[in-house]
Amino acid sequence: MTWSDRQRAMLAEMGIRVWAAPAAEPAEPAVAGPITPASTQAAAVAARPSRGAFGEAVAAPPLSRATSPASLVEFVPASADIATLDWPALREAVASCTACALCESRTQTVFGVGHPQAHWMIVGEAPGEEEDRRGEPFVGRSGQLLDNMLRAIGLSRQPGETPDPAKQVFIANTLKCRPPGNRNPLPDELARCEGFLIRQIELVQPKIILAMGRFAVQSLLRSNSPIGQLRGRVHRYQGVPLVVTYHPAYLLRNLPEKARAWDDLCLALDTVEAAAGAHPHDRAGD
Ligand code: SF4
Repeated sequence: MTWSDRQRAMLAEMGIRVWAAPAAEPAEPAVAGPITPASTQAAAVAARPSRGAFGEAVAAPPLSRATSPASLVEFVPASADIATLDWPALREAVASCTACALCESRTQTVFGVGHPQAHWMIVGEAPGEEEDRRGEPFVGRSGQLLDNMLRAIGLSRQPGETPDPAKQVFIANTLKCRPPGNRNPLPDELARCEGFLIRQIELVQPKIILAMGRFAVQSLLRSNSPIGQLRGRVHRYQGVPLVVTYHPAYLLRNLPEKARAWDDLCLALDTVEAAAGAHPHDRAGD
């Protein structure tokens, strides 16, 4: 993999350094201090599955109303109806939803943003204060970090920037309303809301899903394993490749983990390119 000067500059601004010629591969990326060549590019290569390993991806239990845990099924509201909604109807259903108590404290629902047929789908956790105020997921400092990382590999959440859905992302949260005080989402809140995310994924039909943060991972993979154990390989959600990574808000509090998040993004990019039959060097900016 090679990187243009512009991409390196953008990554450097994020505290991520990449080198064209990596040094010897270490067993683990650096966990503290400056990021070294050996802890970024080489670690990314070491962590990435081969093209052939794509077929060995870890299959996730499908997230559907029929297979949701019995303890959650009872909380899913009008799921059969949600499964038939188009984009405008789904957006309206979210905006008027009162299925859980979060409707009482929200400023507005946070539906999602991006190209409706984007090849990339990013699933976060729940709206924070700024998202609740603006009605858009991943805004503020964590949103800027996410946008910078996406831009470094030629992706955008703004449909107007390019008409090519392969360069576009659709971003949605697992929960559409802000939990008061940014507390963790409750299991019944996640269960009541998950039908909306399921339908969004069905409508977007992404080529790759990036699950960011613990609650996104729990919802999509039905796993309570730590992110550190789930990242670094390709999972599957309803047949769609899914890569687990850290939430940008976590990265802002744990700067050394940016290198691992960058590795995850590269894994997702390699996965998409492998599925499309593209050569790994045929990427934007190279
Ligand atoms: S969090 Fe989801 S289920 Fe709860 S009120 Fe908001 S949209 Fe409805």
